[in-house]
Amino acid sequence: MPYLVRENLFIGNIGDAAEILQNGSSEITHILSVLSSASISFFSEWRSGLTIPTKEIRKVYVGGSGSEDGSENGSKSSLSPDKLLYSLENAGKDLKFVRMAVPLRDMESENLLDYLDACLDFIEDSRKEGSVLVHCFAGVSRSAAIISAYLMKSERLSQEDAIESLRQSCESVCPNDGFLEQLKMFELMGFKVDRASPIYKRFRLKVLGDSYNRGEKIDGSKFGPDPGLPAEIASSSLPDKEASSKTSAYRCKKCRRLVALQDNVLDHVPGEGETCFEWRKRRSGNPFGKSDDNECSSIFIEPLRWMKEVEEGALEGKLICAHCEARLGYFNWSGIQCSCGSWITPAFQLHKSRVDISTI
Ligand SMILES: [Zn+2]
Ligand SMILES: [Zn+2]
Repeated sequence: MPYLVRENLFIGNIGDAAEILQNGSSEITHILSVLSSASISFFSEWRSGLTIPTKEIRKVYVGGSGSEDGSENGSKSSLSPDKLLYSLENAGKDLKFVRMAVPLRDMESENLLDYLDACLDFIEDSRKEGSVLVHCFAGVSRSAAIISAYLMKSERLSQEDAIESLRQSCESVCPNDGFLEQLKMFELMGFKVDRASPIYKRFRLKVLGDSYNRGEKIDGSKFGPDPGLPAEIASSSLPDKEASSKTSAYRCKKCRRLVALQDNVLDHVPGEGETCFEWRKRRSGNPFGKSDDNECSSIFIEPLRWMKEVEEGALEGKLICAHCEARLGYFNWSGIQCSCGSWITPAFQLHKSRVDISTI
């Protein structure tokens, strides 16, 4: 049986969903399925002989025209532009249920954040029209993470309080560690997925690093726009920020070509290794943690489209000015240590001595 979390909001497992879809429900009208496949055939693979009728309403892809938030282009989200975000269908007995299906695996490295907006909107709308069951396979990790995010947003709860509150309804909930981390980011971003936030940018870079480590091809579409090409910036960057204050710009010292904007910079806390999993191991050659000079000699930025060397797929290499070919810095997918002692992973580094900072 599904557990009641709030009025018109239930959490359950695949068995609960199958039972309701097959036999109907006096209470539940909407179902949010969070399974490794969005297809209804997942149910018949789970229990042979089980067939659930469906009628498609729509499918929404990350960068597609069906996307409700037109402002969200593929390059800003961390998901591949052609990935299915969710499908919406009428399903179950007499096609009476509205089912939204989101393809998400229960893995720590799985990107939960980029699905939250769609899921939370669906839960909110469904509760107005009827009652919604949020379910995954076991009803422990994925569904719990999404409901926790919903409670965080709607009741302004911290990640810890939301999970504790959910546990009051259903003792067994336990989102995986990767989801817990992302829920914390969601909290720190102000209960939303703010793609302009440094927290999100760091997350995006980590997702990119994960795909690099899995051997996926990293092409320019995943990189930020080249600030040195005015047309590229104008078409894809931050129209809402144009009116706001001035921003720092980094130029090649030799030829003055624009190579990065303040928005591209990923700040780190000097001397802390927090951005790298294995920082303890890596710092073994430096037992006192910090170097004598705590001043950072580099800035670290997100990968940008002028970085041809990165697009070629190497693990590490020089970053070369696209105009004059002066060496500006270095990149390494498995990390670079800043002069302050911090490890940045993955790292796209500009030496402060090779760039000029100005305000534009
Ligand atoms: Zn530093
Ligand atoms: Zn140059």
